[in-house]
Amino acid sequence: MSLVVQKYGGTSVGDPERIRNVARRVLETQKKGHQVVVVVSAMSGETNRLLDLATKVAQNPVGRESDVLVATGEQVTIALLSLAIQDMGGEAISFLAHQLHILTDSSFMKARIKSIDSTLIHQSLNQGKIAVVAGFQGIDPEGNITTLGRGGSDTSAVALAVALKADDCEIYTDVDGVYTTDPRICPEAKKLDKISYEEMLEMASLGSKVLQTRSVELAAKYKIPLWVKSSFNQEEGTVVTQEDKDMEKVVVAGITQDLNEAKISVRHLADQPGIAARLFQPIAENNINVDMIVQNVSEDGFTDITFTVPKLDLKKALEIVQRQKNQIGSGKVEADEKIAKISIVGVGMRSHAGVAGQMFKTLAAAGINIQMISTSEIKISVVIEQSLAKKAVQLLHQAFELGKE
Ligand code: ASP
Ligand code: MG
Repeated sequence: MSLVVQKYGGTSVGDPERIRNVARRVLETQKKGHQVVVVVSAMSGETNRLLDLATKVAQNPVGRESDVLVATGEQVTIALLSLAIQDMGGEAISFLAHQLHILTDSSFMKARIKSIDSTLIHQSLNQGKIAVVAGFQGIDPEGNITTLGRGGSDTSAVALAVALKADDCEIYTDVDGVYTTDPRICPEAKKLDKISYEEMLEMASLGSKVLQTRSVELAAKYKIPLWVKSSFNQEEGTVVTQEDKDMEKVVVAGITQDLNEAKISVRHLADQPGIAARLFQPIAENNINVDMIVQNVSEDGFTDITFTVPKLDLKKALEIVQRQKNQIGSGKVEADEKIAKISIVGVGMRSHAGVAGQMFKTLAAAGINIQMISTSEIKISVVIEQSLAKKAVQLLHQAFELGKE
């Protein structure tokens, strides 16, 4: 008998009718002869509602008590789903993280899972029950409730699949799978049958919100194939799995846009050892992630540095840079929030030359100016003006023939 872990996201359990729909699907899976573990998120909008509520009583709600609060969302859905399954004649038992010893570190709101005790789940499954587990939450060694960061239920599901040595891990959501790009931006976007872990990691961290990045890292580490499917139909979905020869033949697998970054330029810096360190060290110390960095060729011993940070951290980053400005004696500091980062991703880039050239040519032909560039083995990112993002994605999608069969 095989063991399947299925995870249902917020929209899939967004109202009572949808919860009953999940109950039916889960029961069908069991009837096919599988042992079923179901991981659920909070009902869509619920986690946001709770976080918002917290801001009504406190200026900066973080830490232990915030996790006590947001973890309640998933407690509701495991109970409702179990009730629905029982109502349909099935057997189900719900579990909160502490009941399964889903042990994490103590970083509230972004905890990492260390271990899971699978005894209780195996016991329930062997009694013919469907195990319904609260995603997103864990407990730390002191018994405090922790949560895994937004979208963390995906990671709960993969971690459970690892711990239970599951045969399959299926992530059910409101889209059919992973697409070549966001179909709302580009109607020609095509669903991918499969994608490598590495590509998915790039796509996830570049702003394609299908899977939490950490869940993909975990699946890659343990080589667990991850299926992304819709809970509203019976389509095959996309499997995130190990790289193979087919994937290498495809130059570009997907295109992403990220509108959540801002750009800071520091002008007229002395081109000397130690300047960049003095600029970026305090930024790092404040936990601000710098993504792209470009330093111009120096002229007369002076240079400009431009870099991007998450928009949410822009204010703080600017404060830091202004403070450092006097110390390092730079010129003007400028910020621009109206930028977009457009990236093309594909493991095939490793073995195909000229991909960057084709990307730049495509943008140039449309008069789109590239402000910054960064590359890795399987990715090329450019920063452009935000108002041109949609057009850029559409043109690149066409240029790399991603809409074709
Ligand atoms: N409910 C949590 C969130 O909204 C976890 C999840 O949905 O995966 O982030
Ligand atoms: Mg999600």
